[in-house]
Amino acid sequence: MSRSSFASKSYRTPAIVLRTHKLGEADRIVVLLTPSHGQVRAVAKGVRRTSSKLGATLEPFMLVDAQISTGRSLHVVTQAQIRSPYGQRLAADYRSYTAAHAMAETTERLTEEDHDAAAQYRLLHGAFAALARGDHDPSLVLDSFLLRSVATAGWTPSFSRCVRCGSPGPHAAVNVPLGGVVCADCRPAGSLSPAAETIGLLDALLTGDWPRAATAQAPARREAANIVSGYLQWHLERVVKSLEHVERA
Ligand SMILES: [Zn+2]
Repeated sequence: MSRSSFASKSYRTPAIVLRTHKLGEADRIVVLLTPSHGQVRAVAKGVRRTSSKLGATLEPFMLVDAQISTGRSLHVVTQAQIRSPYGQRLAADYRSYTAAHAMAETTERLTEEDHDAAAQYRLLHGAFAALARGDHDPSLVLDSFLLRSVATAGWTPSFSRCVRCGSPGPHAAVNVPLGGVVCADCRPAGSLSPAAETIGLLDALLTGDWPRAATAQAPARREAANIVSGYLQWHLERVVKSLEHVERA
């Protein structure tokens, strides 16, 4: 549907606040992720006044029900109610908060306006919920999210079968541009030779095998984080700045 066909209309949608920035004296631009309208950039008016209820609702990482009025150039958030106050819970823990930032920045890069983003929405919602519950190490939740997020965008990695010929693993080498493990026959120059524990961890993070992921020691976690970040940046062709602020175990 083109933008003009729903000009001046209004719709209601669940949304996750990815980012906000100031607009003029009292307003704010909010970048939202919605399941059926993809990424939505909209103005929230008057939200920087202390009396604004909308302002407290439209904070980063909040899951809200939003009423959005669509205009030719700018959309406007006219109402919003909190569904899950992830923003408040995540702000209470520095490592979770920085992990959420990196997730939101990645999601903003991987989604577009007026596109179905149901899978990315579910993934981000699940990751924020996991961070808020504090079930797992925040940096493991982040790396699992990043791998699945890149997979959802169409670049599915593999840490079990060789990404070139499909032969079953375990394989000892990882090629970041190819997206995972490569067998001894396929291994191109420039492939990495991480510890077997690191490859096992990457596979556990991709498949959501938390009991297995939790057994990984700090060196494997760090090595896996570097590989995930390399894979993400290979596809985004840019550095994800907020990844640099995440404290690793
Ligand atoms: Zn192979």
